[in-house]
Amino acid sequence: MIVDLRSDTVTKPTPAMHQAMMQAEVGDDVFGEDPSIISLEKKCVALLGMDAAVFCPSGTMTNQIGVKINTQPYDEVICYKGSHIYKYEGGGVAGNSLASMRLVEGDRGRISVKEIESNINNVNDTHLPVTSLVSLENTVVREAGSYYTLDQIKMVSEFARSRGLKMHLDGARLFNALVETGDKAVEYGKYFDSISICLSKGLGAPVGSVLICKKELETKARRMRKAFGGGMRQAGFLAAAGIYALDNHITRLKEDHTRAKTLGKELRALTWIKSVMPVDTNIVIFSIKESSTPEKVLARLNEHQIKAIKFGPQEIRLVTHLDFDDRMLNRTVEVLKKISV
Ligand SMILES: *Cc1c(COP(=O)(O)O)cnc(C)c1O
Repeated sequence: MIVDLRSDTVTKPTPAMHQAMMQAEVGDDVFGEDPSIISLEKKCVALLGMDAAVFCPSGTMTNQIGVKINTQPYDEVICYKGSHIYKYEGGGVAGNSLASMRLVEGDRGRISVKEIESNINNVNDTHLPVTSLVSLENTVVREAGSYYTLDQIKMVSEFARSRGLKMHLDGARLFNALVETGDKAVEYGKYFDSISICLSKGLGAPVGSVLICKKELETKARRMRKAFGGGMRQAGFLAAAGIYALDNHITRLKEDHTRAKTLGKELRALTWIKSVMPVDTNIVIFSIKESSTPEKVLARLNEHQIKAIKFGPQEIRLVTHLDFDDRMLNRTVEVLKKISV
């Protein structure tokens, strides 16, 4: 039995999802004629309470389009210093949007009104880039899946908009946050100009992300998708997997969280662990005491067919998902307890 905890992107389609994919009606989406994509986009519009949605190959692309359509070259984007759009998108914001990023500390990645206020540039000072966008991440991957409540989002958004700023959400794991807070997805649309969601993380689709946005941004978003090389043809097979995922794999995310919390609790009791970040959703990040290294721990785990990744100088990350069940959880706990590192 191989246990893969490197990411929640490693899942394979379930038999039922596979069947939905095989039965998908498809057409050429660049001509706007793929019924499955049209239906996925409509579903996302209704789900998030916005006007338009654009199906894309990856969450990096939906974020890059989100930043692009909400900024002008030479603008500045306020975001958390460990955010995906800053750290893990290959410098895309610099290259695609010609924008700079103003990095803030956040409370476990959650940006406050105060942090935004103190980082908005004076628009009359020509030394400074024009602050035009705030980008939030929910859940925050670098902070072990910490999440915002809708009330926190509302406060940030209302303040940012009162100062003329646009709002983008990197909601790669938005549904992980929602199953914890009980907030309604449909409320989210009010507070953002664009929202990116990933179908290929915890939701378990093989490929795909969706950018949901305001009506007036749709044409620009579709043009940018084309320009970035993301116009796909009969991609309805993938959209069908996304529809299946949204219909069937949201509420079960709670199971992933329960298993992640169990891993966190068991890890805290081990002598070679220095600390474990609070486990809020499906991501477990822990530090190892100086007497060992992540490489050593990962090698020991590998000998038992358990895969994880290094996530900092002394850190390791484990992510639970659809293809990680209780049997695998028990096996992982057993191995963690017995390895010597
Ligand atoms: C995975 C992820 C993305 C998008 O990643 P892709 O691999 O490009 O789909 C965006 N934001 C966050 C926080 C992520 O974890």
